[in-house]
Amino acid sequence: MTPLRTDNQKQRTASYCGRLAPSPTGLLHLGHARTFWIAYERARQNDGKLWLRDEDLDPLRSRAEFAQAMREDLYWLGIAWDDELRQRDRIPRYRDAMRQLLQAGFAYPCSCSRKDLQQATQAPHEDDDEPLYSNRCRPGSSDLSTLDRVLVSNSNYRFRIAAGDPVAFRDNHAGPQSFTPGVDFGDFLIWRKDGLPSYQLACVVDDAAMGITEVVRGRDLLKSTARQILLQRALSLQTPAYFHTDLMRDAAGQRLAKRHDALSLRAMREAGLTPADVRAKLVLPSSGV
Ligand code: GLU
Repeated sequence: MTPLRTDNQKQRTASYCGRLAPSPTGLLHLGHARTFWIAYERARQNDGKLWLRDEDLDPLRSRAEFAQAMREDLYWLGIAWDDELRQRDRIPRYRDAMRQLLQAGFAYPCSCSRKDLQQATQAPHEDDDEPLYSNRCRPGSSDLSTLDRVLVSNSNYRFRIAAGDPVAFRDNHAGPQSFTPGVDFGDFLIWRKDGLPSYQLACVVDDAAMGITEVVRGRDLLKSTARQILLQRALSLQTPAYFHTDLMRDAAGQRLAKRHDALSLRAMREAGLTPADVRAKLVLPSSGV
């Protein structure tokens, strides 16, 4: 099912282009609904285009039934989009970007086997961000010229940061931001030995290919934005605008996650709530978005 906006065919004058980027690893909950509603409103207010990007790269956790459920739940809530794509269909594009990074000396193979390698296809949230890398496999600058720049199929790869050079950007909601490579994050994973890109790389390649002008997502991804800006620079891609939304928390102050089953859109719908009832729970920014 691809719900299309009724004004889909009209010639758009504005150049705004946004995206909804859910991962089909569980049922969408109130926190997702809030971020996606804001993304939808911002695209609508700017007479822009909105994409649905199915972030189904995680081979262990992505499931077709969740992909179907997220489409149904978004549509039920009143969110419509113009076009959609699936990340699993785009592996050759990610491989091209990976080769480009290798050629330009931004990437190196890493043989460390750690939990973060398994998690790399998922966006890192508050409690599961990639730890600072020990630099065990990082080649010294003098070794860079001899580094094999061909992508081999059974190796993980990391992006080589320039430590200490801050990455600054102005977020359209959260205000001025600055993160320091080497302090806030280290050499991060961009490719897994099973032939899959990391979330960071896939996101950058897709945001550019889809012509995204503003990325709306949760505030816990601010640090990922700094990593993604470094990738954009390395790949000579434009940096879009960013709007990081505040996170919804449960009574104990925990970020809402897919484990909060009772707050899934599906559970609320089955309990008899209407889309308007759910939208009323979203506590939207006072600026009216
Ligand atoms: N699929 C990611 C998530 O569900 C979204 C990341 C993004 O919007 O860049 O957290």
